[in-house]
Amino acid sequence: MENCIFCKIANGEIPAATLYEDGDFRVILDLGPASKGHALILPKAHAANIYELPDELAGKAMILAKKMAGKMTEALQCDGFNIVQNNGETAGQTVFHFHMHLIPRYKGDGVGLTWTPGTLSDEDREEILEKVKA
Ligand code: 5GP
Ligand code: ZN
Repeated sequence: MENCIFCKIANGEIPAATLYEDGDFRVILDLGPASKGHALILPKAHAANIYELPDELAGKAMILAKKMAGKMTEALQCDGFNIVQNNGETAGQTVFHFHMHLIPRYKGDGVGLTWTPGTLSDEDREEILEKVKA
């Protein structure tokens, strides 16, 4: 993808603070961090979102997220850890190259990743089960 900033960063054409790199991924520090240590897992191959991401890379990305979560939690002494992945503008995606957010959490950090719980109606439950259940 010619004009994709994360393609350029992932493939080393634009420098970024790199925490980890292998043949498939680069993990970089986010330039607008939600908390100290906020990092992004970028696949080197372009996929706009999770729908386009090949299964093999999806599996590897999750294993890498686990590895980074352990390493970062130990190194940064954070109190918790969020792994966030946005798909589509409505879901908060602003860069349309798949990425996973690694967000170390610290007691009282005020990072807002929560929502107000609704109620699962009988109607919604039945409709969703009918439409989605495999
Ligand atoms: P999204 O909202 O798409 O899930 O997340 C995009 C993230 O990329 C944001 O957290 C934003 O701060 C980060 N970001 C955007 N442009 C750059 C950049 O050029 N370099 C780095 N390191 N992070 C970026
Ligand atoms: Zn890209």
